[in-house]
Parts: sequence; C-alpha cells; structure tokens
Amino acid sequence: MTELRLEGVSKRYGSAEGGTSALTGIDLTVRDGEFFTLVGPSGCGKTTTLRTIAGFEVPTEGTVSFDGEPITDIPPEGRDVGVVFQSYALFPHMSVAENVGYGLQFRDPPTGTTVDERVSELLDLVDLSGMGERSPDQLSGGQRQRVALARALAPEPDLLLLDEPMSALDARLRESLRLQLKRIQSELAITTVYVTHDQEEALAISDRLAVMRDGELEQVGRPQEIYREP
Ligand code: ADP
Ligand code: ADP
Repeated sequence: MTELRLEGVSKRYGSAEGGTSALTGIDLTVRDGEFFTLVGPSGCGKTTTLRTIAGFEVPTEGTVSFDGEPITDIPPEGRDVGVVFQSYALFPHMSVAENVGYGLQFRDPPTGTTVDERVSELLDLVDLSGMGERSPDQLSGGQRQRVALARALAPEPDLLLLDEPMSALDARLRESLRLQLKRIQSELAITTVYVTHDQEEALAISDRLAVMRDGELEQVGRPQEIYREP
C-alpha cells in the first residue's frame, strides 16, 4: 500500500560542468496498487529513475517520497522495496528455494508464516512448485526470472521495481511471463514501476505509463491516451 511520488527530480552524473544530465525535473505520481511503466529508448533515463526510486542513487535535486514521506527520512531497513533488475542474477551457488528465501534473513516473513512456508507460497505464485531444490543453472531463462520475481516478493514489499526483466527472453516466453506478471501484480495489488524500451509491451501491460525522452517525461497517461509514433 504505497503511493510513490517524484517531485522535481533531476540527476546528473559526474561534475556539474562536465557530467551527464540523466534526468531533468521529473514530476510523477504512481498511485497505490498501480502498474506503471517507464518506456523510452536506451539512454533516456529509465534505469536512473528506477535506481533513484530504489534509493541506489541520490537525486541531484528534488525528492522521492513513499506515502508522502521523503525516502531520505526513511531508514534503509524501513523501505520495503522489491527489485528485479535485468542484471540482478540469482545466486548461482544457492538452490531456488534459498534464493527465494534470501531476503527473509533480513526481514521477517509475513506474520504467521515460517520461512519455508513463505518460500513454498511464493514458488506456487510463480508456478514453480516443486522446483525449490533445483539449482538456478537447471532452469530456463523464463523460470529464472520468475525465481527473481519470487525472491523480490517474498518479504511482502510495498513497492515492486522491475527493470527490463524480460529483455533476455524470446518473444513467446515474454508473452507468457508478461501475462503471469500482470496476474500476480493485480492479485497482490502491489504498486509497481516497470521499465522497458518496448512500446508494445508497455501498452499491453500497464495501467498507466510515461514515455521518456532525454531525461524528461514526454507523455503520461493510460495506454489508450498515449500518442504512438507511426
Ligand atoms: P536508460 O535506462 O533509459 O537506458 P539510463 O538511466 O541508464 O537510461 O541512462 C541515462 C543517461 O545517464 C545516459 O546518458 C547514460 O549514459 C547516463 N548514465 C547512466 N548511468 C550512469 C553512470 N553510472 N555514470 C554516468 N552516466 C550514466
Ligand atoms: P540500461 O540501458 O538498462 O540502463 P546500460 O547497459 O545502459 O543499462 O547500463 C548498465 C549499467 O551501466 C547501469 O548500472 C548504468 O548505471 C551504468 N551506465 C550506463 N551508462 C553509463 C555511463 N555513460 N557511464 C557509466 N556508467 C553507465
């Protein structure tokens, strides 16, 4: 249950004179339970926006807040954010179940459940029941990304951030994972920010989306309100 707000967020990498301006004055509200997508070409600032929301980057200007509270006022252990980044590989030496349970070492499982119960609940949710003892290298790319999703969701985060989670998958797998992700997201009603460079994907999966260009939000709206370039 989290509303996410960015107000006047700018991000510059490197020095003020010689650096790169990645984001300029981003104002954005993602409503509680919404599936929101940032779409745009490579280099437009999608990943920087997501990393700023996650608290991995500090904005040069502006604020990010969760339910009206600036994240700078929330201690890191109080920020319940689940992330699935394209480059966030699974831990190869751990089983699937250990990967899914990883975050529960630092954060208790939801009240009334044990770690084992929570892990098996999550494996059910992503249709990987019975695969807990496998090693990640025995899974397909799509299965691995579902494990990464289960791992992100295990501690019941208030916010889910996904950076091109399907970009390494072939078209058919993307389609099925997309449907699955959409189902899980709406079942959990978790506020979600999804990053992709694929406009078709963005239009298919989102409640609302923002089209980014050169570090700014060019359009924000529901899929049917977005003007598509011919
Ligand atoms: P996208 O995710 O849309 O591809 P990014 O947020 O990764 O865009 O990048 C936005 C801009 O910021 C690009 O010009 C990129 O080269 C630059 N950039 C991203 N990360 C860094 C970094 N760590 N150091 C310097 N420049 C960066
Ligand atoms: P994406 O397009 O998904 O943002 P990239 O492959 O552009 O991913 O970037 C991968 C990583 O490299 C990110 O952590 C990003 O912050 C960093 N990065 C991107 N551009 C630059 C840059 N110009 N200088 C330094 N780091 C960068």
